[in-house]
Amino acid sequence: MLREAALRVTRPRLAVLAAVHAHPHAETDSILGAVRGQLPAVSHQAVYDVLRALTAAGLVRRIQPSGSVARYEARVGDNHHHVVCRSCGAIADIDCAVGETPCLTASDDQGFSIDEAEVTYWGVCPECVGAPATR
Ligand SMILES: [Zn+2]
Ligand SMILES: [Zn+2]
Repeated sequence: MLREAALRVTRPRLAVLAAVHAHPHAETDSILGAVRGQLPAVSHQAVYDVLRALTAAGLVRRIQPSGSVARYEARVGDNHHHVVCRSCGAIADIDCAVGETPCLTASDDQGFSIDEAEVTYWGVCPECVGAPATR
């Protein structure tokens, strides 16, 4: 994947890419933790830089629901949406309601060249629905 994107293959890039694949919607700190399992000496800045390069190359998608830190996923190119739990912050993928990336076809694009439509569904995840109230 790195070679196809014309990125040099480095150990930190491989490790970060593997971590994002293994932990969809993880934030930088979780990715850092996973990467350090393989490369104990890697710095926070290095992981941050790699995430930025991978995002710019389109290998990784960055999402940031309001009130959340940035999160990363390897599922790119389909403009799928996300549902976020208001209680615990859990995130899951939601496919477009109809077919492939229909939301990118705006009813009137106002002359803009559109490459992303962001829909965030908000609610409560099954675990939080079932949990007894603790507060
Ligand atoms: Zn929840
Ligand atoms: Zn996703």
